[in-house]
Order: sequence, then structure tokens, then C-alpha cells
Amino acid sequence: MSVTFHTLASGSGGNSALLRADGFGVLIDVGLDERLIAHRLAAIGFGWRDVNAVLLTHAHSDHWTDLSLGQIRRLSVPFYCHPDHEPAINRYGGEFEPLRKAGLVFSFQQSIPFLLNPLITVTPIRVPHDSEPTFGFRIDGLTAAGQEWSVGYASDLGEVPEELFTAFREVDLLALEFNHDETMQRNSGRPRRLIQRVLGAAGHLSNTQATEAVRRLLMESPSPRLRHVVQLHLSKDCNKPLIAATTAQKMIDELKAPVRLTTASQNSPSATLTIVD
Ligand SMILES: [Zn+2]
Ligand SMILES: [Zn+2]
Repeated sequence: MSVTFHTLASGSGGNSALLRADGFGVLIDVGLDERLIAHRLAAIGFGWRDVNAVLLTHAHSDHWTDLSLGQIRRLSVPFYCHPDHEPAINRYGGEFEPLRKAGLVFSFQQSIPFLLNPLITVTPIRVPHDSEPTFGFRIDGLTAAGQEWSVGYASDLGEVPEELFTAFREVDLLALEFNHDETMQRNSGRPRRLIQRVLGAAGHLSNTQATEAVRRLLMESPSPRLRHVVQLHLSKDCNKPLIAATTAQKMIDELKAPVRLTTASQNSPSATLTIVD
């Protein structure tokens, strides 16, 4: 029995990550169509049959697809979202209502922990982003052998709120957005409004913001458990994996932290990140 984490896809072209704990599979976001998710799962030795729950961070279209909601319904997989996500999903997709009628939609509330199964607890933390509301998740579990584990996941946020710093203390794996290099963003030639949106407090985290957030988490953790940092949601136009990785690795080396850095890709699943052997 083990606890593992993979990103399946990360970026504005679609987001999904798989957390597996003692055989229980959780997809965080389903922003690819169901066949592409099946391909990505197959590439790491899994399939839709291994998915037991789906969590939604927010209603932007790179985090859910109607085709995946249809698949979730056919497979009777519980779908966890905030009640305020429902109108936006309903407006753009026909599969949400059948999912709800099938009794598969479960609502969570900001900062209130809920159970996915008797051994896995999820706490949704509200983060600033221009799709209201957007959440990061702290996920805590206990293996059948009695070992505790924790994951922090936040993929779209303009800045890191204080509550997230508190919630993500003492996690074993932290998956955090490293969206853009600020200089590349400013010089991107994109419309001014778009640049302001991305850089703003309700946009996306830069490499520097995310690196400083990880630094603070490492420095404030009394007994640091953090072993994996996963860089999420890199911009295709305004970031490069090498820039994001170098920025974070420099900080990790400065702190001499025993942390392995992984940079998520839009086009292929990550390596298997083992949280509990
Ligand atoms: Zn996104
Ligand atoms: Zn978003």
C-alpha cells in the first residue's frame, strides 16, 4: 500500500492531477476530455476505474470539461465542488445537471474539512483568483498501516493568502502554481488588460511569488516534512520550465532543504511522486 501523486496535465490547456492513497484515487480537476484523461492515466498504469472521487478547484474551463463530467456520471464517481461553482458549470455544460440528478454532486464549504473516505480529509481554502470562488486543498490521510500523510494543492491564485500559509504547514507534498516569469509577462506583447489581469492579485502566481511562498513555508515549519514541491500551471508563452525550476531550486539549495522539485507539464504526466512507500 502506498500514497502517490502525479500531475496528468497542468497549464491553461487543461489541468488534472491524480492522488492515490492505499488504492483510493482522487482526481483534482478534470480539465481535459475524458479520453485524454484515460490516455494520461494509462501512461502511468491507471485508468478511470482507479478514480474514486473528483475535486474541483474552480469553474474556469481549463479545470473541468463536460465530457469528463459525463464520464464521472457513467462511472458513478462522486464530484465535490462548491455550490457557487454550479451556475457557471451549468451555463457552459449539459452534463452537470444529470450528474446532480444522479446524486453524485457533493458540496463543500470554505475552510470546512470533509471526508472522502474514513481515512482521507479535505480542507478547501479560498484563494484569490478571477473565477469566484477558487480553492486550494489541504488533503490529510492515514494509511491502513497508520502512517499520516498530507498534501497541499493550489493551482490558480493571484497571491498566497495567510490562511493558505497556515493550512499548508507540515505537508509532505506541496503542489503550487508557478505561472509566469514577470519580465516575460510584461514583455509578452499581450494586450495590456490581459497582462494586468495575470499579474494582479486575482490572477496567477509568478515564479518569484511562488518561490517566496515555498521559502516561507519551509522556514515556518517547525519540523519540516516537505519532500516534494510540484510546480503547476506554467504559462506556455510567459514562462519556461527551466526558468521556473532554476528559480525554485536556488531557494531550495540556499535553505539546504531535502526537497525534490518537479515541474509539471501540459503535455505529459509527471513522474510518480511517492509520499508514503
Ligand atoms: Zn487554470
Ligand atoms: Zn483559473
